[in-house]
Amino acid sequence: MAGHSARHQVAAASSTTTEDGAPVVVRRSSRRTRTVAAFWENGTAVVAIPARFTAAQEAEWVHKMVAKLQRQGERRAAVGKRRPATDAALAEQAAQLSAKYLGGRAVPTSVRWVSNQNSRWGSATPAEGTIRLSDKLRPMPQWVIDYVLLHELAHLLVAAHNAAFWQLLEAYPETQRAKAFLEGVSFATGRGMADPDAD
Ligand SMILES: [Zn+2]
Repeated sequence: MAGHSARHQVAAASSTTTEDGAPVVVRRSSRRTRTVAAFWENGTAVVAIPARFTAAQEAEWVHKMVAKLQRQGERRAAVGKRRPATDAALAEQAAQLSAKYLGGRAVPTSVRWVSNQNSRWGSATPAEGTIRLSDKLRPMPQWVIDYVLLHELAHLLVAAHNAAFWQLLEAYPETQRAKAFLEGVSFATGRGMADPDAD
């Protein structure tokens, strides 16, 4: 964060995420003449700048405004407002899926929505029993969310993507459809995210 050389500012502008991993989007507006604004929008840091700004001005202001957003902690507040208590609902859904398809053997210690996971739909840490789902899944159909949740639950039992792992997902009737759905989304958005938690 330190340093204000031109070189540093260029580097800051080319980075597409904030320090804690949220995507940064720059919006140029011809209606905007002098003012710069920054705000959180669905977990993305948006910096609105005048259309006439040079690349150097853009870099300088993105750097400044993203730092300001992080200081204000607006993201945390916005996320809290947007989905009250839904981590609890997600944990409840996980318990139901585990009971229905995994004989209740997968027992996560925590299941959370996260907004800083941009390259994966979900992730699990088997050693800790924790599961995180990207909030980019939230607008998707429930059967897709359930697939990712079940996929991460299954990782608590089998860490690798091997035959034993995929066998755990066979009972869920929407596995193939959900995989195809996510592949379609990944293709359309240009994110290489075929598997929910592939690197
Ligand atoms: Zn996986």
